[in-house]
Amino acid sequence: MRALAFIKFLHNLFNTPSYSGTMAITILDCYTDEPAGLGVPPYLGTYPRYLYGYLKEEHETINYLTIDDLRLHIFYQGKIKEKAQTDIKTYNLTKNYPHISKILSETNELIIIVGVHAPGKYLSALPGILHEVLRLVKDIKCKKVLTGPALYGTSLEGGKFFEKADLQKFDEVRNYNFPFAKVAGYAVSGAELVKQIPDYRIIELETGRGCSSKGCNFCTEPLKSRLMFRRKEDIILEMKAMHENGVVDFRLGKQACFYTYPGPDKLLERIREEIKDIRTLHIDNVIPSMVLSSRGDRITEAIVKHCTPGNIAAFGVESFDPAIIEANNLACDAETSFEAIKRVNELGREMGKNGMPKYLPGINILFGLEAESKQSQEENMKWLKKIYDDGLLVRRINIRQVAVFPGTKLYERCGNKYLRKNKRYYWKWRNEIRQKIDFPMLRRLVPKGSILKGIRTEVHDGNTTFGRQIGSYPLSVGIKKKLPLKKFYDIKVEDHMLRSVVGSIQ
Ligand code: SF4
Repeated sequence: MRALAFIKFLHNLFNTPSYSGTMAITILDCYTDEPAGLGVPPYLGTYPRYLYGYLKEEHETINYLTIDDLRLHIFYQGKIKEKAQTDIKTYNLTKNYPHISKILSETNELIIIVGVHAPGKYLSALPGILHEVLRLVKDIKCKKVLTGPALYGTSLEGGKFFEKADLQKFDEVRNYNFPFAKVAGYAVSGAELVKQIPDYRIIELETGRGCSSKGCNFCTEPLKSRLMFRRKEDIILEMKAMHENGVVDFRLGKQACFYTYPGPDKLLERIREEIKDIRTLHIDNVIPSMVLSSRGDRITEAIVKHCTPGNIAAFGVESFDPAIIEANNLACDAETSFEAIKRVNELGREMGKNGMPKYLPGINILFGLEAESKQSQEENMKWLKKIYDDGLLVRRINIRQVAVFPGTKLYERCGNKYLRKNKRYYWKWRNEIRQKIDFPMLRRLVPKGSILKGIRTEVHDGNTTFGRQIGSYPLSVGIKKKLPLKKFYDIKVEDHMLRSVVGSIQ
């Protein structure tokens, strides 16, 4: 019996089902965050959009719910309460939340998208993890199907093994791994999903899968796909379909490296020619060595010219320590990362019209990798200090503890050995970077008196309102006033915190 159940489990995992047109299907988006791809609000990821387009082929109506809708329904009987601190667990509601009881009672199949592989802190959302999701859906009487990156494990916090994914607690587990030939159509018909969302969303666009590097030992991206790219025509058609549904904010972010895409400069040029009135056009994820390649300057110049200001090349540096770089097969050495940071500064740091430089590097640092020692922190500080002392700008330094996923070389070679060994230093190491690098860097980036335009208010914390510009890694601004949410303001920078600024309305 067990063997039979396992065969059925594997069959379901690798085969997309065919549906009868009378089934009522609901997509439950618990949000996704992967090294290559973000689907946490205000971003709308590819998983629900492609799935919607695929289901649309056979169904008239597909309901889209967020985990926030379900939390509000279960914990607050669907009533939104005014609180001093905005509840980010119920902030991202769809238009369907007032009808959720009816939707769920009529649903035959609930397809649940879950998966956080690159955990972070989110200003106005909290992704669901398997443990929470299982609890929330247990009383819903329908078939429950799990999909999304959680199939490879999921973790809301770094520094841990993946959340023990008891996949068999769901009725089915399915990997909707659509080939790009199918995505072409699904992405276009899936664009109308945004009609069910009352708020704005930044659309995370996919340009490629897999990775051109040797494959970093901790990363799940090379496990998921070999290297492949989407056709420019298909990306543009998807953007046009989105635009027709009212979307004006886009990020070309679902890929390991934007510079690796064939002809990314041409892609940007065509987007600008063919789609007017784009409010945000940003990118994400860059392998530093690609910036220094023979076509690197051409691509950087195209990004500066065609994208909107406040754009960031998130460099997966991970560590400046040569011992870690070698042991973990990382894509670049410290010198290369430094030179790439310098080159993006030379070509991109000119001030944009929203008060932020047009295009800057960001740095990702990971703690807990193989061969990590006290020396690693010294190397990180040495290079970060050099970046600062050379007068360069870095928009943000993202420091995380690695999440150890099964199937990765990190999992096989040492698991969480280094996390356990060095955990006691992490607060100190992180704080050293925050105090000695981040803080003065932020003062250099946006000195007191700078004007930041188009800050959208997102959450309240007591009498302080927090907002951000729309885009890739926008700077959080705290305003000491209770302002209406979801409105735009121009802000004058009054003071600096470690990673955010205090501002007043202009
Ligand atoms: S460069 Fe490394 S971390 Fe980035 S996607 Fe490739 S394998 Fe993953």
